[in-house]
Formats: sequence, C-alpha cells, structure tokens
Amino acid sequence: MKIAENYSLKKLNTFGIEVKARYFAEIREDEKLINLLDNPAWQTRKMLILAGGSNILFTRDFDGLVIKVSTRGIAIAEETAAHVLVNAQAGENWNGLVNWCVGRNLGGLENLSLIPGNVGAAPVQNIGAYGVEQKDSFECLQALEIATRKQVKFNKADCDFGYRSSIFKKELKNKFVILNVTYRLDKNPVVQINYGELKKEIQSRNIKEPGITEVADAVCRIRNSKLPDPEKTGNAGSFFKNPLVTEEKFLELRKLYPDIPGYPSENRLIKVAAGWMIDRLGWKGFRHGDAGVCETQALVLVNYGNASGYEILGIANDIKKSVKESFDVELEPEVNII
Ligand SMILES: Cc1cc2nc3c(=O)[nH]c(=O)nc-3n(C[C@H](O)[C@H](O)[C@H](O)COP(=O)(O)OP(=O)(O)OC[C@H]3O[C@@H](n4cnc5c(N)ncnc54)[C@H](O)[C@@H]3O)c2cc1C
Repeated sequence: MKIAENYSLKKLNTFGIEVKARYFAEIREDEKLINLLDNPAWQTRKMLILAGGSNILFTRDFDGLVIKVSTRGIAIAEETAAHVLVNAQAGENWNGLVNWCVGRNLGGLENLSLIPGNVGAAPVQNIGAYGVEQKDSFECLQALEIATRKQVKFNKADCDFGYRSSIFKKELKNKFVILNVTYRLDKNPVVQINYGELKKEIQSRNIKEPGITEVADAVCRIRNSKLPDPEKTGNAGSFFKNPLVTEEKFLELRKLYPDIPGYPSENRLIKVAAGWMIDRLGWKGFRHGDAGVCETQALVLVNYGNASGYEILGIANDIKKSVKESFDVELEPEVNII
C-alpha cells in the first residue's frame, strides 16, 4: 500500500484549506484497510478518516495518518413487495446514491439531493435537509472497529441518531470506520413536501402531484440558488447547528425579538434559527482577509482564497461570543474542527 508523506489536503476539503497530512493513504478495498490498521506501526499514530472533506475545518497540519476511504459500489441487498434494501460502500458519492435511487423510483432520499460528501459520512452527523434526515431511511451499517479490526453491524437503534448527531460523533468518535450503509427505500414513494421552502418551490411550478423526481429537482434548484458552490468559494455548508432551547427560553427571546424563527423539535425543545441570529447581529458578508461570512447565508463561513483554518475558526469564535452576549444562546459547530 502506498503511503504518501507530507501530503497536501487542499483539494480534499471543501473549505480549500492548505494543510498537510504527515502520512496519507487512500483505500479502495476494505481488505486493504484491515491490513493497514493491522500494521503495528500505525496503531500508535493519530488517525483521521476522511471522506469528501465537506464537513471538516482543518486548523493545522495533521501530524498522523489520514485515511481517505474511496471504496465504491451500490447494490440491491434485498427486495420485498414494498421495499428495496440498497447497500452502498462508504466511498460512494452521496448524491450519486440519491440519483441511483431516484432513477429507479425508490423513495426516501430525494429530499437529501445534492448534499456534498460520501455515503460513509452520512450517518456520522445524520445528514438532513428539507424536513428529512438520513435516519428516516436508514436500515443498518457495517463498521470496522479500529482498535480490534472487528466488523460490527449497527442497526438504527444502535446509532443514537439525533439532530446532526449520532453515536459516531459522540461515544464512538474516531473508534470505527464505517464500511458500508444500507437504506430501506420505498417502492411506492410518498413524497415529503411539508417543508415551507420546498412546498413553495413545487407550488410555484404548478406541479399538482409531484413524484420523487420532481421533489429531487426542486431541492436541487433551491440548493443551487442559495448555497455557495465549494468549487468556487470554499465552505462546509452550515457552520453551526441550529441551537435547541427550552420553550421558556424561546418565549423570552420572542418577547425581545418578535420575528425570531423557531420550530418545535425533539424533547419539547425549540430549534432556533442560528442564521437569523447571526444575520441580526450584522455578520452576513463580514470579511477579514480571505475568511468571511457568506453574503447570502449567514450560517455559512467561507474561504475566499487563501484563508487559514485558524482565521475561519477565529471568525466562528467571534460569532459564537456575540450570539451568546446578545441572545444568551450557545452556538455549537456542526463542522468537525481538526
Ligand atoms: C455546500 C454544502 C452544503 C451542505 N449541506 C448540508 C445539508 O443540507 N445537510 C447536512 O446534514 N449537511 C450538509 N453539509 C455538510 C456535509 O455535506 C455533510 O456533513 C456530509 O455528510 C459530509 O460528508 P463528507 O464525505 O464530506 O465527510 P467528511 O467531511 O470527510 O467527514 C465528516 C466526518 O465524518 C467522519 N467520517 C467520514 N467518513 C467516515 C467513515 N467512513 N467512517 C467513520 N467516520 C467517517 C470524518 O472523520 C469526519 O469526522 C453541507 C456541506 C457543504 C459544503
């Protein structure tokens, strides 16, 4: 197996940050990964599993081994009268999997069209968009325990999925490599178009009975119109999660800011729009050197060219502080800071 040294990660993270990995390996077969992890030379080294690099902010060179998982393959694992179980390898492009399903009229993932990144990372933060999360179609995954090199199957209940969170972001952070993921897709799809923006987009086109292709197309149109393209401007999508506050706290905020958006969420908590608070504090369009806040989306931090991860993190910390001071609300990054 080829191990590169002092390898540039600039093209492997969507922020486009220039950092180097002390060691770097790209894996195209699960066996190669097991062999690599079996080698005692790597067992004492720091390790980072990298997929599409669209949810990572590198703040410094990585003094260890970066393993990029590039295994490919999508296959039907099982079929019943109502469902198809589709298994995809971790290195498959997420949107490629969504298109594969939509093209076969298998419903469930269409609202998650165009989310950057790979299949293996999707359960890590339980990706979600337009009223749907990957957990809604998730069946199970296979993962390799780094310490023991044992393969373990995780069913939905084992993953502790929550809002942009799972067991792989908490107790099992950096302990497993996800090898493949299986989704349960619907052969008779029922579309989910209750999310305001999506509903509006479909109505504006006068589509009376949308199928999953129309939903996927509408999601793509909305995303293309509002999110900066990482190919043009480095970013990792929403930098912060929308914070969850108690009903009492939300009522307090509403008294002070009658138009603050909030949505009922898990455990009787209210999800407050982080972007609204950041925008209200005047951060939208802020720029310091090449690091800044997107001009159209206050929740998205951007690299206009040669910003360092440290500079972007500096702006993130300043935003966090100003939201805390003004709203007494704690922001938590959605992006993994390395
Ligand atoms: C423009 C833009 C829009 C976005 N929109 C959304 C959105 O709508 N909804 C949403 O939820 N997210 C969104 N994101 C964030 C991002 O696309 C997702 O979090 C995505 O799942 C990250 O995938 P990735 O392959 O790039 O993972 P990476 O960034 O490479 O990795 C993310 C984390 O997962 C870990 N990881 C990756 N692969 C594995 C594996 N095989 N096994 C174990 N751990 C692994 C990594 O170590 C890291 O901690 C957006 C990002 C961008 C740039």
